[in-house]
Amino acid sequence: MKRKHLRINRFIFVIACLIFAIFAFTRILARPDPYKQYKDISTQLKTVGEQQRIDEEISETELHFLHYPELGIATADQAILAYIEQLPDVEGISFLDYESYELTDGFIGVLFHYQNFNLDHQLQNESYHGMSFAKESGELLAIQDVLRRNYTDVLSKEFKKQANLDYTDDTTFGFALREQDMILTTADANITLPYQGNEPYLRIHSKGIAKDITPFTIKRQVPIDPNKPMIALTFDDGPSPYTDQFLQVFEQYNATASFFMLGSNIEHYPDTLKRMIENGFEICNHSWSHKSIATDDKDAILAEIFDTQDTIYRMSGHEPTRMRPPYGAVNDLSYTVANGNDVNITLWNVDTEDWRNRDAAVTLERAKAGAFDGAIILFHDLYPSSLEAVKELVPYLQGQGFQLVSVSDLFKYKGDKTGL
Ligand code: ZN
Repeated sequence: MKRKHLRINRFIFVIACLIFAIFAFTRILARPDPYKQYKDISTQLKTVGEQQRIDEEISETELHFLHYPELGIATADQAILAYIEQLPDVEGISFLDYESYELTDGFIGVLFHYQNFNLDHQLQNESYHGMSFAKESGELLAIQDVLRRNYTDVLSKEFKKQANLDYTDDTTFGFALREQDMILTTADANITLPYQGNEPYLRIHSKGIAKDITPFTIKRQVPIDPNKPMIALTFDDGPSPYTDQFLQVFEQYNATASFFMLGSNIEHYPDTLKRMIENGFEICNHSWSHKSIATDDKDAILAEIFDTQDTIYRMSGHEPTRMRPPYGAVNDLSYTVANGNDVNITLWNVDTEDWRNRDAAVTLERAKAGAFDGAIILFHDLYPSSLEAVKELVPYLQGQGFQLVSVSDLFKYKGDKTGL
């Protein structure tokens, strides 16, 4: 009897232990996860890629909950990882969330939101970072890829108005393209730039913006050996009825050149412009009306430069990165206005004076005498005499070991030799 009683007591004890264990276990299970808010993110505004997530506990004082998209485009995903990797290693809880946007015509915008909390969940630090990509290539876009004209004036105005920030060329910012606007993010502040009302400054082809422009395709590229001597032949004042014949000479000898064109002429030569771009010639700006801009005010300089840029862009989907002021007449303001808007003022270092002599032999002689590795030779594609000179000059210079390149490639490889 005694033994049986003991056995019942032991049985009750085991049951009690079991009940307690189950109770304790369910309490542990039911205890709320203190980091739940950092792990659960909404899928709203995440329109591209597979949602990706890293939960990484680094140490007892440092926890990371980083959410970012995986777009499935190698170049873009590498750029996103590079951003993730440069996030600060700081104490507390680091949390990253994002919004992403897919725009028609092949753009992706990603807006990251980074926050750092202490272990009591109080916000210590917060910043945004915008990134935008070309969908097909995954290329990380620069602001010049999406904005054009004197967009720096627009940004400076908006940075001042929205964030009381002085915008300069050195201001570093990221940007994310969204449906109706782009958001520009700096370390200190964000501003938005709506598409509506800023159409002249937009290069992106989205939501009806500039959608009627189909860029010409570049079909011919002249190979360059950076270690061999090179010369840029440059032609001002065209296009003219002779320009196609100039192009023909360069095409025949597998060479190229740069054409500084007048906006007021270009509209009359759409086929010549198309041939230039398709066949790998460099299109450049020579003002709208060929008047000196050296004494103009800012608005007049902007008009001379950008009326021509607009015309070329509208006709071809491409636009020059170089501008040669008529007569080479230029002052500090012209440099500020042009170079500040990614249109480089470009002069020359050899002048054939072909417009004055109108003599093929004299023009040819002056060009030959001026030839050196780094020469930028000035001609005008308006005169039959210049055409005759070029027909002889091109094979002659190639025979002397010179490559005939665009003026931009010359600056790229021989900039220090130009003396400009
Ligand atoms: Zn000129």
